[in-house]
Amino acid sequence: MLHWFDSIGARALRAYPYRMETYDGAPGPGGAPALSDAPVSDAGQPLADQPLTEQPGAAQPDAEEAATDQPVKLLPVAELHLHIEGTLEPELIFALAERNGITLPYADLDELRARYEFTDLQSFLDLYYANMAVLQTEQDFADMTRAYLARAAAAGVRHAEIMMDPQAHVSRGVPLGTCVNGVASVLANSLEEFGVSTLLIAAFLRDLSEESALEVLEQLLAMNAPIAGIGLDSAEVGNPPAKFERLFARAKEAGLHRIAHAGEEGPPSYIIDALELLDVERIDHGIRCMEDPDLVEHLVAERVPLTVCPLSNVRLRAVDTLAEHPLPAMLAAGLNVSVNSDDPAYFGGYVDDNFLQLQTVLGLSEFDRVRLASNSIRSSFADEERKTELLAELGYS
Ligand SMILES: [Zn+2]
Repeated sequence: MLHWFDSIGARALRAYPYRMETYDGAPGPGGAPALSDAPVSDAGQPLADQPLTEQPGAAQPDAEEAATDQPVKLLPVAELHLHIEGTLEPELIFALAERNGITLPYADLDELRARYEFTDLQSFLDLYYANMAVLQTEQDFADMTRAYLARAAAAGVRHAEIMMDPQAHVSRGVPLGTCVNGVASVLANSLEEFGVSTLLIAAFLRDLSEESALEVLEQLLAMNAPIAGIGLDSAEVGNPPAKFERLFARAKEAGLHRIAHAGEEGPPSYIIDALELLDVERIDHGIRCMEDPDLVEHLVAERVPLTVCPLSNVRLRAVDTLAEHPLPAMLAAGLNVSVNSDDPAYFGGYVDDNFLQLQTVLGLSEFDRVRLASNSIRSSFADEERKTELLAELGYS
């Protein structure tokens, strides 16, 4: 089914004509469409009769698929699993390289895009880290963040909890303050500028040592960095949660939220360990929980949020095709799942692209899409007032 992704990737890349405008600092398409104007049912139930909205900037179906594709209504969602470095689009990579006088190992955009065929998580990470070389100044980080928020707002994202990988920048000589301040300076005005409330999460690279993570966390705390929590990402297999017990204990002591990738490529036991040893509040990915019925039962009972990233899972071969993705089974099991884009520049699309493909390929129902959206809002770290506001937009009162 590789041809399927080729098609989606090409469409997604054609669909974002405003990328370079946002790089120049001009506002993107602004806030999400005004779902708040739609009537809310007296029973407080999600509305099923809202007019369908064409997604601005969304990948459009090929002509031969048009007969089966239905327009996807844009729902207000929270994006809970997003790596800001993974939003670095090829056009922006070339623009930043030119601005910073960096020679890229790719002759042109086509040569770069040709490298977006991944065989596993590590093959993606190799390209992901290589492309970060273009991020040098606060302005670079700010431009990347602004471009994401513009695109996310057009996808219906109304709240985003954004991970960044400080170690990936410090290790190549970029000061911690440069990356943090560059991203945070844009997030500080994201609600006013894009209609997206935001939180910043410092994610740590699990293939590095716990000492390295602790050192950076202490620096972040010392500089009073505006982070709401910590995460754990990068190469999962061979780097179990147990490796980072002290890091997460320190984060909890400092009053930070805690999330961790687990059960993407790693076994179900990593999910259990992340919950028990790291005391995380959410699991990023978590799809391999389906291999352990007892774990599923526990996750359902505790309403543990799992931030699932369908297009990412296919692109990184965690599942072979979207048609085989466990999301429908996860929903049927009663798991608290949401849909997220992970590293959208690399994996074929943003949140709206994920929803569109879930509808097209898996026949995701309106009921389940509303459920996924409400799960995302309820599972966020937004304050209760913001959650109530967004749930009301979704049709809950
Ligand atoms: Zn991720």
